[in-house]
Amino acid sequence: MAHSGDSPGSLADALTRATAELAGSSDTAALDAEVLLTHLIGRDRAFLRAWPEQPLNPEQSDAYQRLVSLRREGWPIAYLTGEREFWSRSFKVAPGVLIPRPATELLIEIALDQLPVRGRVDVLDLGTGSGIIAITLAVERPNASVTAIDSSRKALQIAESNAFRLDIKNLRLTEGNWCEPLSRDERFHLIVSNPPYIAEGDPHLAQGDLRYEPAAALASGPEGLDALRAIVSAARLHLEPGGVLLLEHGYDQTDVLATLLSTQGYRHITHHRDLQGHRRATMARYA
Ligand code: GLN
Repeated sequence: MAHSGDSPGSLADALTRATAELAGSSDTAALDAEVLLTHLIGRDRAFLRAWPEQPLNPEQSDAYQRLVSLRREGWPIAYLTGEREFWSRSFKVAPGVLIPRPATELLIEIALDQLPVRGRVDVLDLGTGSGIIAITLAVERPNASVTAIDSSRKALQIAESNAFRLDIKNLRLTEGNWCEPLSRDERFHLIVSNPPYIAEGDPHLAQGDLRYEPAAALASGPEGLDALRAIVSAARLHLEPGGVLLLEHGYDQTDVLATLLSTQGYRHITHHRDLQGHRRATMARYA
């Protein structure tokens, strides 16, 4: 929206210029410009509409210019604002954790369907990252006792601060590789994971936000199956009889995963579609 009469230094002027600057590198230039500006001034989009002539002070102007330049280089919006919404709650994110994706809300829907609202229920989230899955389940099921594991200390710090912001009491965060930190006799009613499942060398890894996200949270082995394999084989040793394993995966990994699960003794294998219609999650019961 190029209003020619924008006074220099006004919010409207800053937006017009940022949108023009981002037009060549982002498909959502105007939206990006607005999101970064509202983040910077701590106001919502309605404020920008209502008060376009409000001036930015010089520090704000400089800070905005820095954000816009980083965005132009390709930095993900969520890393620049430091947050992303998931299941209607705002989560802190930073380089070092995957940015929450809408598709992962599918895991929450399925998990909530499986979790009773009363009585003790033990839940495990493997590769928790910023903690979105573990924390959302802990809030939605206060009766659950949730354990979340990640191999990255940086990720655990971010998950910890998200748990603190939402005042979560029924969550335990632990460092380690998949199930390794668990004691042998620990059992869960539900084990959930959004593991890395992209094939190493997949060209998508060199595009868009993915360039800035931790490779270890995205890619896993030549077919993207290494983490899924490790989880399928480790999780059965930590499931209650009849317990549920719930995994996010690539749409083209569904059949391989189903074979892997049945070979390892899982039953009642069901696939679930994301909003794009891709089979993006698989659920199975052990014994
Ligand atoms: N679905 C994500 C993507 O393709 C990948 C997330 C993951 O590897 N868990 O961008």
